[in-house]
Parts: sequence; C-alpha cells; structure tokens
Amino acid sequence: MSVVASNATGLVARRARRAWLLVFLSAFCAIAIATHWPNVHVGDPERPPDKIIHFIAFGGLAALLWQTGWIKSRLALFAAGIGIALVDEVTQSIGVAGRQSSVEDVVAGALGVFVVVAGTWAFAPMGGVAANLRQQRRRVAEQFVFSRAGPWLSLLAAAMFGLVVMMPISMLIDSEFPRPNPLQAALVGAVLGVLLSCIIMLESLVRRTLSVTAQKPRCISCGEEALDGATCTRCGAETDLNLFIQWPDAGGVKFLRLAARPLMLGVGIVLAVTAVALSLGALRMTFGWASTLDALLHGRAYGMTSVLDLTLVGIAAACAVRSFRKRSARLADGASDYCIACAHDLSRTPVATEVYLGKTAAGVSQACSIGRCGECGAQFLRELPRA
Ligand SMILES: [Zn+2]
Ligand SMILES: [Zn+2]
Repeated sequence: MSVVASNATGLVARRARRAWLLVFLSAFCAIAIATHWPNVHVGDPERPPDKIIHFIAFGGLAALLWQTGWIKSRLALFAAGIGIALVDEVTQSIGVAGRQSSVEDVVAGALGVFVVVAGTWAFAPMGGVAANLRQQRRRVAEQFVFSRAGPWLSLLAAAMFGLVVMMPISMLIDSEFPRPNPLQAALVGAVLGVLLSCIIMLESLVRRTLSVTAQKPRCISCGEEALDGATCTRCGAETDLNLFIQWPDAGGVKFLRLAARPLMLGVGIVLAVTAVALSLGALRMTFGWASTLDALLHGRAYGMTSVLDLTLVGIAAACAVRSFRKRSARLADGASDYCIACAHDLSRTPVATEVYLGKTAAGVSQACSIGRCGECGAQFLRELPRA
C-alpha cells in the first residue's frame, strides 16, 4: 500500500526545512556574536544606527525561524521573536564590557518581529479549492527550489550583487541630505539590495520550476522525475498530479485592475498615519494631551524615527499584499464561470466526470472537477454541488 504524499512531509520538504534551519542558525550565531562583542561602537557616537540594526536583525531572525517550520502559529512566532530580542539584550547587560542595553533596543527589535509577523499574515493560505490548489502548487515549487544547493548558490550570488549595487547608491542619496549618516545609509541600502535581488532571483527560479514541472511532474515526496501515473517508481509515494496543472494567470490590464486597489490601500495607510502624526504636532499648541503624546514620541532615542517609519511602510505593504492575494483568490475561485485567460463564459462548459476531492484554505474538503475552456483550452476547476 503506498502513501499519499503531502507537501509538508517527504524528502523534498525535509531538505528544504533543513536548509532554512542552517541559514537560521548561522544568522542567529552571527547576531549573538556581534551583539556580545565587547566595546563595539558603530558609527557616529551621537547618532548611532543601532536601533535600525536591531529592527533588521531580529525581524530577519523571526523570518528565518518561520521558514524552518518549527513554529506554526503567528502568535508563537511573535512571542519567540521578542523572546530572542529580550534575552539578547539581558545577556548584553550582564557582564559584557562596554555594551549598553536599552529598552528602546528591545522595542526596535520587537517592531521588526511585528512587521515579519504581518508579512506571514499577508502570505497565509486563503480562498476556496481553486485558489488553494494554486497556492499549494506554488509552495511545492518553492520547496523544490529550496531543497537543492544550486538555487541557494544563485540566491547567494543575487544577494551579493544587490549588496554591491545598492550600498553605494543609498550612501550617495543620503549624502545629498543636510545631515548625512553614511553608516546607516549603507546598512539600509545593503538590506534593501539583498532583499530586492533575492526576491527577483527567487521569483525567476520558482517560475522556471513551475513551468518545468507542468511539462514533467515530479514526485512531491522525493523530488524525482520518476512518476508512473501518480505513483513514484523510486519511493512509492503517490503524488497529486493536479498540483502541476498550469492554471491561467490574469495578465495585462486585468492584473493592473487587480493590483490598483491594494496599492491605493497601502499608500492610503501610510498617508493617513503620517497625517495623524503631523496633526499631533499642530494640536500640541492647544491641547495638553496632544503635547504629552508628542513629547513621548519625540523623547525617543536616536534612530527610533526611522524604525517607526519602516514599521509603518512594512505594515502598509503587508495589508496591500494581503488584499491583492485575496482578490486573486476570488478571481481563481470564480474561474469556473469566466475563463481567466480569455473571459469566455464557462458556466455551460462541461467538466470531467472524474471527481477530485480538494480542500479550501480553511481545510474544508470539497468535491470538484476539472474542465477546459472551449475557446482557449485553459484549465479551470469547478466545485460540485454537495449531494
Ligand atoms: Zn518519489
Ligand atoms: Zn479561455
């Protein structure tokens, strides 16, 4: 009797998790050593960039921890992330010469963790069977990418490229401002460069895997191209071949229409919060409470302003991404009425007689069937009415 492989178990998933674990542990050790090295003072002593460093370091650790699969709930991730930042700060204050710990450092770290938790919320599974099958397909492709050494080397090369290009650009832009802070600019530029180039490289690796596996499905348990029907001739696991269907994507104008409102939402959040913060400054002339609140916000340590700005942008981006994914999921789930590729009316198009038992993002099983658009041949999934 063979086992039906899910994309959470199996060799591919284990290899991918092990790779992330290695990255997490390396980053953890690097940060622990850097924060406990005696007598380190980074940059301009009057305006040290250490708040931003805490924000990036502990946010980054939380993101890597999430990828290891050790932690399953967002609340636990938030608690663990803050726990790491707190322990790091406490051990710094005991017995490391020339290092000062502060509450602001922990707050900056916690805000980084909070932005990452918002990111995991934005990328959480959502929608009905059709949307969930698409998202699963992408997760499987990502696991294929992260389970091999080659793609990791490509990502490393992309990270190096982003670092080398963005660091000087960021410092150049910063030098145009009245009070430049080259070290902080270099740091932010480096992180942005690494993130951006890694995202672009990952996207191209995942897309290539998606199109290759659509042509030639692989066993999702061991990753080999050894399928005989749905059964792997190497490891004996069964693979759900529906995971490799190339569903049509919304392109061109349709994509822009899908993305416009989420983009406005993100920009709107940033503008609204900025307006409130500015009006607080104006109100403090008249109202006592506004003055107290404003003093509280301005009394913070150097660098906290940048951390708060980054937090705001991060939260707004997470809201925009979640809204975009929700709209895309709705489009995918409605694809049995209108073809996503050519807008042909599919409500009367018959589906295959073979029933496929799929699951929604909420884990509800739903019988459905798969059909093809009569106009363009693109595949679609239709949920069958419950008996
Ligand atoms: Zn196999
Ligand atoms: Zn069509």
